[in-house]
Amino acid sequence: MPTVNEHCNKCGQCVDACPAGAIQITEDQVIIDADNCVECGFCIDECPQKAIEE
Ligand code: SF4
Ligand code: SF4
Repeated sequence: MPTVNEHCNKCGQCVDACPAGAIQITEDQVIIDADNCVECGFCIDECPQKAIEE
């Protein structure tokens, strides 16, 4: 399961990259829904801040 670290600036690119619609951005955090995530790793590759870790 990917997790988001403190380098995230809420740019939203991971939301667009996720084929499963598993990522949501709220006012203060990025949430990855474990029930929907298929662990493809696309969000990790797409994050310009390298803020998503496996
Ligand atoms: S792509 Fe990276 S920096 Fe942008 S919202 Fe997602 S986790 Fe945060
Ligand atoms: S690993 Fe894939 S399915 Fe899971 S949150 Fe990232 S892009 Fe979405």
